[in-house]
Amino acid sequence: MTEEKKPLKLKAGSPQEKQTSRPRKDWRVLVVDDDEEVHAVTRMILGKMRYKDRAITLLSAYSAAEARVVMENEKDIAVVLLDVVMETDDAGLQLVKVIREEIFNTAVRIILRTGQPGQAPEERVIADYDINDYKAKSELTAQKLFTTVIAALRSYETIVSLVKTRKGLEKILDSSSALFQVHSIQNFASGVLMQLSGFLECQPNGIICVQPDQAAMEGEWPCSGLQILASTGEYCQCTNCLQESDCKHTEMLQLIHKALAEEKNQLGENYTVLYFKTGNTPATAALLHGGLCDADENDRQLLEVFASKISLAFSNAIHYQKMITAEAASTIDFLTGLNNRRQLLRIGVPLVAGANRSGKSLAVAMIDIDHFKEINDTYGHDAGDEVLKRIATLMKDRFRSSDVVARFGGEEFCVIASSLTPQVAYELFDEFRRSLEETTMDINGESTRITVSIGISTLLADSVDAMISAADQMLYRAKQDGRNRVVMDS
Ligand code: GH3
Ligand code: MG
Ligand code: MG
Repeated sequence: MTEEKKPLKLKAGSPQEKQTSRPRKDWRVLVVDDDEEVHAVTRMILGKMRYKDRAITLLSAYSAAEARVVMENEKDIAVVLLDVVMETDDAGLQLVKVIREEIFNTAVRIILRTGQPGQAPEERVIADYDINDYKAKSELTAQKLFTTVIAALRSYETIVSLVKTRKGLEKILDSSSALFQVHSIQNFASGVLMQLSGFLECQPNGIICVQPDQAAMEGEWPCSGLQILASTGEYCQCTNCLQESDCKHTEMLQLIHKALAEEKNQLGENYTVLYFKTGNTPATAALLHGGLCDADENDRQLLEVFASKISLAFSNAIHYQKMITAEAASTIDFLTGLNNRRQLLRIGVPLVAGANRSGKSLAVAMIDIDHFKEINDTYGHDAGDEVLKRIATLMKDRFRSSDVVARFGGEEFCVIASSLTPQVAYELFDEFRRSLEETTMDINGESTRITVSIGISTLLADSVDAMISAADQMLYRAKQDGRNRVVMDS
């Protein structure tokens, strides 16, 4: 996204690429039989049949080997009407195994139609082979065949729908967990577009935009129109604002506004617009080429689930971004009110550079509370926080306003004191250590003594980082030597 405001340019006319894969409109039934007459009769009976307003297309194979090739190449055959005795006495039964165990097609409904029931006794066959129906050719009147095929189509449809739902849910799980990993809003928005195009099985042509809530988001967005967070594919030129006057593609804009106004997904002829709820943050709509206007209830529900998952991940990303921004802007440690580590380094850089230029002395001290973990373990984390606050107050009182006092992290503090000779620096910090040792602190009604170990570096180094790490080494020595002491490097 660039900062500068660019009008939205969209290609007029309808999208050229509609790559949403649709199920075939007809039901496909494969007739496998070595007897041409069986094919002819089946065509006569089923040829004009319709189920749920969809015609039936018959495919023919004259041997199990031929049928295997058809099954390997055609993925959406709903029913196989299968003869048993063809090139071998059990060619049909072997084909059942191939279809289920080698081609792994578990959806297709297999109706065994045998001319010699004695060759393949019903009880054994239905138990041993994964078939869905068993009929003797002699009992299959036109009416019976019709009924049997309709029943098979119905269960095929249910199975396909269940598989589709399962796959859809798997995709939602996969993509939403991927989205929870992304924290930057812009990356997140592009991620949503990619995941969405995968979900809808269409090209990733789309935009994600938000409608800024002017009151809540004052100053955060450059304009009052719809704000584009990400754009991909054909829309990659679209950046920044989406204003009515700029937009040539009215269908898209109408759908986006409708989604925002009605707070729900919109499935238009050429576009799918998802609505995301993101708490107090702006409502958001995503859009892609790849119309889903003929989506069934199943598709709609999956899309709702997907949108709600994205909403959650979106809120998450927005909160994370706010937190990062707030943290970056802050200079103080929230618990103690001291400078935070970032601010210590910010101030420390010019102090060390200045000391190097002027030759004036500088002391960097690292102060670490002894056995602080025990305080947490004994009195609880809140009491631990209280101790940190009290020590911070003592430090603020003890050191000069020209000294930089910071919470370095955890139970470690850092002080940079200028213009002190090493001897004076040592005395200053040792005096602080002693006064703390002599202070009793009341924690949860019990009076306790807290001690600290201090490492000081007074040897001027090139950088503040180098001086801090030298002080840290001295602190390590103080800990090693028995704690509650000051160790200095000069
Ligand atoms: P040592 O004398 O060697 O310094 O031992 P220690 O227990 O003080 O040091 P250690 O590093 O083992 O443990 C520090 C503890 O400080 C562990 C951590 O849970 C706790 N801590 C860090 N930050 C905070 C905080 O903000 N509040 C509270 N209550 N505890 C904290
Ligand atoms: Mg400690
Ligand atoms: Mg520590």
